[in-house]
Amino acid sequence: MTIKIALVGNPNCGKTTMFNALTGGTQRVGNWPGVTVDKKVGTLRGNREVSIIDLPGIYSLSPYSPEEAVSRDYLVKERPDAIINIVDATNLERNLFLSTQVLELGIPVVIALNMMDVIDSRGDSIDVGKLSAYLGCDVIETSALKRKGLDEVSTRVMEVASGAGSDRPIRIYSKKVEEAISRISRIIKGTVPDDLLRWYSVKIIEGDPEVSETMRDAMEKAAPIVARLESSLDNDGESIIIDQRYNFITDIVGKSSKRSEKGILTTSDKIDRVVTNRWLALPIFFGVMFVIYYLSISTIGGAMTDWVNETLFEEYIIPGSREWLEGVGTAAWLTSLVVDGIITGIGAVLGFLPQMFVLFILLAILEDCGYMARIAFIMDRVFRKFGLSGKSVIPALISTGCGVPGIMASRTIEDERDRKITVITTSFIPCSAKLPVIALIAGALFDGSPWIAPSAYFLGIFAILISGVILKKMRRFVGEPAPFIMELPAYHRPGLRTIGISATERTRHFVKKAGTVIILACGLIWFLSSYNWGMTAVGVGDSMLADLGKIMAPLFEPLGWGEWRAAVATIAGLVAKENVVATFGILLGFGEVADFGEEIWTALPSIFTPLAAYSFLVFNLLCAPCFAAIGAMRRELGSWASTAKAVAYQCGFAYAIAFIFYQLGLLVQGNGPSIYTPFAVIALVLLLYLTFRPVSGGDKVGEAVAS
Ligand code: GDP
Repeated sequence: MTIKIALVGNPNCGKTTMFNALTGGTQRVGNWPGVTVDKKVGTLRGNREVSIIDLPGIYSLSPYSPEEAVSRDYLVKERPDAIINIVDATNLERNLFLSTQVLELGIPVVIALNMMDVIDSRGDSIDVGKLSAYLGCDVIETSALKRKGLDEVSTRVMEVASGAGSDRPIRIYSKKVEEAISRISRIIKGTVPDDLLRWYSVKIIEGDPEVSETMRDAMEKAAPIVARLESSLDNDGESIIIDQRYNFITDIVGKSSKRSEKGILTTSDKIDRVVTNRWLALPIFFGVMFVIYYLSISTIGGAMTDWVNETLFEEYIIPGSREWLEGVGTAAWLTSLVVDGIITGIGAVLGFLPQMFVLFILLAILEDCGYMARIAFIMDRVFRKFGLSGKSVIPALISTGCGVPGIMASRTIEDERDRKITVITTSFIPCSAKLPVIALIAGALFDGSPWIAPSAYFLGIFAILISGVILKKMRRFVGEPAPFIMELPAYHRPGLRTIGISATERTRHFVKKAGTVIILACGLIWFLSSYNWGMTAVGVGDSMLADLGKIMAPLFEPLGWGEWRAAVATIAGLVAKENVVATFGILLGFGEVADFGEEIWTALPSIFTPLAAYSFLVFNLLCAPCFAAIGAMRRELGSWASTAKAVAYQCGFAYAIAFIFYQLGLLVQGNGPSIYTPFAVIALVLLLYLTFRPVSGGDKVGEAVAS
């Protein structure tokens, strides 16, 4: 029989590091059923009979957030054989709040007192013997990062799992509360497992919503006991329990830990004085980002991407597979579908892998060394003014590589509304596949101006912030951003292993998407662009796609580019944004074009004025992301209906901004008003209204977009 051990702890307590160390490379990642919360399971190193379940990082066992509900359900219903509760020693009070609840579950617990290396380096001390006595369970000093104490944790947890733990009672509550607990226990005895009597009794006093729902009878019978307790302590049940937990924690932490008298400033504190300094924080942040993009896009990653695109695919794989298929006598249409549709499509997507992988490694280094948490902290000051949390910055940063892992990174945001808004807005940031489009427009119409690329990033940030404000005022999303709780972990040298795992995971998510959605979509676009309605193979100019482009084109007239080839390029961009450049190449009769479409720079001005070209860029940067990212949005938003609304918002927003930009741009250029000018002014006023109106509780627009 396998033994099940659950890892429980606050976010950022070092749980992932410990899980990786305890399991080696054995973990499998999945989702908890019905919710978008990661489920990680592995086996203990050296003992395949022991499975380790990594529960999501949480602050409490209440049933409010999906993470809490998942953890609580697992602990209460599945009953692992033992729990390793990881406690961040540098944040004892807050972490022990969860411990006091875990200890009530009647499951053997071993506490891993983690980050002890930081406590030592600060010169602080914690008396584990005393702590263990007060908490009635084993407390073992660990440093997951330096791999200290982990063997002892696994040995000890195996012992308690097999029943060797001593049953030492702990005293958290006052006599009155304890009396109430015993009485309620007697009432509910027989209706719940004996091990859980204490847990349920406390939940009944707290008036826990889930327990109230499922144990109505018991709640009714216990009501007089709870009412008496509440009146005698002059407080409501939930506050009584929370207060007494905190009193207990303050008391035992006071008795068992000592801060260094010298108040040593650790190296970390010293670095933070500079890095999070009011004036230096932003310049340092921009400097760091510049170096990261320089390395991943302009130099190392860029060179590798060029090699994959221009050498691997164009010189070997594409001609090679065409030759092979023709050699074995495959029908011409099938060869074309496989080579021109699917392989070319996949090549275009995989071409970004090296660049993205380098970017993800660098971002993982930032994350692991502790700087990413500072970025969220620094940006929180700015983002909070727009109703967003600083944590939305991290998904946006990752989205600069690829929106798919970017959207998934929104899972670190605890507040559901903030998380959904981030999922909807994060792909406004130009991802690496949008760079060729930017380069094309800059090169073809703006003399390669160095301002076009930065303006695209600013546009992305602007779109995120404004959408944050607009969406936040809609009923579904109304509410202050959740208070910023995120520890700033001590800086340390990043671990190769953690970085490897994180960068590979993110790249893997991208490849997985590329493998499914993109193949289908590439096949579809190939089909539409290779045949006419009579199913005869034709050039793209006479294809169904061209006809669709012609139908769509008038829609884009007010944006300055009601031209069928631009419309077709936009549709093709839904598959993968770099398709925009390739499509222009084909439509303008150039066949294969280089990454940034240098060949077509001279031809493009025949379609666009510079103003219209920029409006085209604005629309393509902000409208719905590629199919892969839409798939990721669907996963995070939970339903196709919400996803459709989110995509409609993105396209509507993109249209409005491009429309206002183009029409007002015409006026500024002195071209006099057009028939669209009044509508552009109305759109601008509407946008300003949505942005600056006071928050109202019940509006319909919000529901439409958000529900
Ligand atoms: P999780 O959110 O609980 O999964 O936490 P992680 O395992 O991702 O750790 C958060 C941060 O703390 C990472 O930067 C880790 O490298 C770091 N960390 C984890 N354990 C320790 C430790 O024992 N000592 C120190 N100094 N840092 C640690």
